[in-house]
Amino acid sequence: MIGTADPIIEKMRAYSGAVDARRLTRAFEFGKRAHHGQMRASGEPYFTHPVAVANILVDMRLDEESIITALLHDTVEDCEVTLDTLHTEFGGDVAQLVDGVTKLSRLAIGALPSSAQAENFRKLLMAMSEDVRVLMVKLADRTHNMRTLSFIPKPEKRHRIARETMDIYAPLAERIGLTKLQTELEDSAFEVLNGDMRQSILTRLEFLTSEAKLTIPTISVELQSTIERAGIECSVTGRLKSPYSIWRKMQNKAVTMDQLADIVAFRVLVPTKDDCYRALGQLHQNYPTVMGRFKDYVSTPKRNGYQSLHTGVLGPQNHRIEVQIRTPEMHSVAEDGVAAHWHYKRSLQDNNPPKYKWIQELVGLLDEEAGADEFLEHTKMDLYHDQVFCFTPRGDLIALPRGATAVDFAYAVHTKVGESCIGVRINGKTRQLATELQNGDQIEILTSPDARPRAEWESFVMTGRAKSAIRRFTRAQRVTEFTRIGRTRIEKTFREHDKPFRSRALEKTLSAFGVNRVEEVFALVGEDRLSPLRVLERLYPDIVTDGDIEARNRRRPKTNLPNLKIEGDNAGAAITMARCCHPLPGEAIVGIFTTGKGITVHKVGCTTLSKFSDTPELWLDVSWEKDSLRRVNARLNTVLSNEPGSLASLATVISQQGGNISNINLTDRNPDFFKFELDLEVKDVEHMRSIIAVLQANKYVESVERADAG
Ligand code: MN
Repeated sequence: MIGTADPIIEKMRAYSGAVDARRLTRAFEFGKRAHHGQMRASGEPYFTHPVAVANILVDMRLDEESIITALLHDTVEDCEVTLDTLHTEFGGDVAQLVDGVTKLSRLAIGALPSSAQAENFRKLLMAMSEDVRVLMVKLADRTHNMRTLSFIPKPEKRHRIARETMDIYAPLAERIGLTKLQTELEDSAFEVLNGDMRQSILTRLEFLTSEAKLTIPTISVELQSTIERAGIECSVTGRLKSPYSIWRKMQNKAVTMDQLADIVAFRVLVPTKDDCYRALGQLHQNYPTVMGRFKDYVSTPKRNGYQSLHTGVLGPQNHRIEVQIRTPEMHSVAEDGVAAHWHYKRSLQDNNPPKYKWIQELVGLLDEEAGADEFLEHTKMDLYHDQVFCFTPRGDLIALPRGATAVDFAYAVHTKVGESCIGVRINGKTRQLATELQNGDQIEILTSPDARPRAEWESFVMTGRAKSAIRRFTRAQRVTEFTRIGRTRIEKTFREHDKPFRSRALEKTLSAFGVNRVEEVFALVGEDRLSPLRVLERLYPDIVTDGDIEARNRRRPKTNLPNLKIEGDNAGAAITMARCCHPLPGEAIVGIFTTGKGITVHKVGCTTLSKFSDTPELWLDVSWEKDSLRRVNARLNTVLSNEPGSLASLATVISQQGGNISNINLTDRNPDFFKFELDLEVKDVEHMRSIIAVLQANKYVESVERADAG
């Protein structure tokens, strides 16, 4: 029942110069052995299937590697055969092609598919094929499976396979110009999906053709003699359209099956391209043309390489008919697409082989001078190299730009998924969120309701959607935290001045601050762009004087005006608290006098002072006034865990301790921690120490220390 490789070798010899019969026989026997004992649903030995697939490809005149691949295409998936073995036995090309076909076979789309899903799936198959021959073997494989579909017992499974064939594989065959396979795939799927409709079209066709039985040959003969009168050699045939293509036309163009033009296409074969145009002219001179039917696919081939002249005429016996004019070579390409191109390219019978734009696109060629071998080297498909296609666990396909990561995928599924994602499993394995996705990966995003986007994701995501969502979120988060901080500071300021604070009252003042919402006032204060005293002063103009002074201080936060006792007659000099050590009331201090700059106050022991050890004349005795109401800045180096609410908690603790955050300067941020300099207004060194102690006890605070301990 299985036989030998001989019929295949025989047929290959008819179109291929050098057939390695021993190698083909070896592949045949290898496949037969590998599938030994396995059965098809039809009850036949399994190996009949690879042989049938090989024969389909032989009919398309494919090269030896493709035929061997067809014979072995199921051995890795269904038998114990490894790619290494295939590599050793049949070489790298065959191993790679079988690997490609195996990968395509493992892809399974889930619930079938919206048209966008189907398009993505087709793109995925093409992107994964890499070598156009992988796709051709796969299409031949599907064609034979459709031929034997009736043996599949479950109707749902038959239906699913037919749907997939119609939506995915037939359009793919069309894409690469395999019209014969396309027509067969469509029609066999149509039979399963809409058998009643197909049957009624067939019945109608039978009726029309029996009526037209004499008409079709008569028209053919008359067309032929009309063209030959102009001295053009030609042959004309009438060809019934397939039930599916008729049905599709009936749907798209609302045509009925009344006209001969709707069910038959007449095909005129002439020797050369010039003859195509001459034959066309001859037809147009002898018959009235039907408007809108003329198409020149010779000068502008279809994307899949198809070339022909199409026209519609009111032909012999006043029948409206459709005519396609082409050369034998164009005809081969119309039937077998890329494969035929191969054949013509390989045989090099034609010194001026046609340029197929689509095929050029497909295989990244063509140098007109290149030989057959080089053509084969360029079977690599470079399609969709800028895209990557991945599955959700449900089998939905998501198309992303190449280089996209798991985070991009999460955002592509839904913004909410992106914002709550905490991890990813790719093909069942836990991986990093920054992992670059590969074609066909199955991606499972792990989410948590408490999770938040991380600012550093922005550095590795590829899609604009993810980027802008992350940016939007981190901005919103910053605003939220500034709002909390600002509110705390305003409340504290009001408390200190014994004034009640109600945010309702603030609403009247919004325009004065140039904002629309109370929260924006909080945020301005939180960001230190507005003093809480200005807010107080707005609501209680009677304390304006006090507020004014303090507000001025705040506007110049670097130059606090502490109450100091300074020796000598320097009382009028400008005083600056040194920014290297931020001395606090209660600490031993010393002043350094600099001309033009005034007095800078340092902590005793500040390292900066060593610069002035040779100029003792500049040193001044300075001491703190007792019970100063003024506050001074202390700077704390703080490391805070990067969690929602951590900054707010910090602000709350500080305000409970009577401290005031005057500035936050973020120095480092990573997934786990914020590092920043925290400037606090405190009363004195004791005050600061008590705040540090409380901060150290806070669960979010990793570490905190005075920045200027020296
Ligand atoms: Mn198969």
